[in-house]
Amino acid sequence: MSKNIFILGAGASKEAGAPLMDDFLDKAKDLLDLDKIKGEYKKDFDRIFKTISDLKPIHYAVKIDLDNIENLFAALEMGKLLDKIPNISKEEAESLLKTIKRFIFITLEKTIEFPVHSEKVYPNENYGALVKLMKELDESGLPQNKCSVITFNYDLALDYALNSYNSSVNYGLPEIKNQRGPLLLKLHGSSNWVKCQVCGKISFWSLSEFFGKYQYLFLKDLKFVNLDLASKLISSGLKCCDKEIKSEPYIVPPTWSKTEYYRDISLIWKRAALELSEAENIFICGYSLRESDLFFRYLFGLSSIGASRIRRFWVFDPDESDIVYNRFINFIAPAIEKKFRFEKKRFSEAINIIRNELIKNDY
Ligand SMILES: [Zn+2]
Repeated sequence: MSKNIFILGAGASKEAGAPLMDDFLDKAKDLLDLDKIKGEYKKDFDRIFKTISDLKPIHYAVKIDLDNIENLFAALEMGKLLDKIPNISKEEAESLLKTIKRFIFITLEKTIEFPVHSEKVYPNENYGALVKLMKELDESGLPQNKCSVITFNYDLALDYALNSYNSSVNYGLPEIKNQRGPLLLKLHGSSNWVKCQVCGKISFWSLSEFFGKYQYLFLKDLKFVNLDLASKLISSGLKCCDKEIKSEPYIVPPTWSKTEYYRDISLIWKRAALELSEAENIFICGYSLRESDLFFRYLFGLSSIGASRIRRFWVFDPDESDIVYNRFINFIAPAIEKKFRFEKKRFSEAINIIRNELIKNDY
């Protein structure tokens, strides 16, 4: 059980190039305009933009903010379930869900950039710094230095950094053997996870397996590259139940509780709750605790965090408006208030601050 937990939201991947949920559509539109989206994916992108403009007049009255991609994802999921989106049949909602997932993982794949120096590809600097810090703490051998990460992000920027410095990642997936390395709990699924259509088991395509099959070529004049694992996942050759799993990434909408995802993803959430219940230090970066994130509140409720055990509950978010600060202040239990620290800092700055705090001259 880890004593240090890092909780990461979209803001943590922003510095690697990923959009936030609020500007996701703008970034996706830019990719279209720059002609970076080709073939079938272009049809998916066009379809999503058409769906949004078709739905906007209808939903305006009930204030679903369709400029936020997660709201659309959630609306379609509920639409499939309840058959209640005006002008969209249950079947169409189901097919649109596949399209929106593609829209999300392709946008992430095309926007997250990995730096290239001397023809070598490196992890994103900030995630690299986080992994180095975790490794340094871990190597001290002290139980209070053990770290794990809980993330809401689908992208592979942190996975890439973990793979570069540790050569393995432990996703805490049930029924999957040989998961070693630091615990990375991806609460909304991941761009490299697949679900077996026969038994329903979730497995993953590791970065090492991916790079065993594909390599970067012609890096000489490049400053950045994208990692196209998600779009190649369908031909990964991964097998389950004696059959090749030909699935696209397993990613989960924010509102999964009443859906088919429950069986798979609730086990990851339970594991996260268990980790939180034992934590001494909780560092939250780039996660803005929007009102709609009921599950995070639920997760904290479930984990019955030992307030007496908590030593640091630190939140890093560059939001200058105090909106994020107020959300956290209203959220935390009085017993944690004394341990609460809010810094208007970005993820990159946060890692340095945490590092200075945790790595003293103890060892
Ligand atoms: Zn199977």
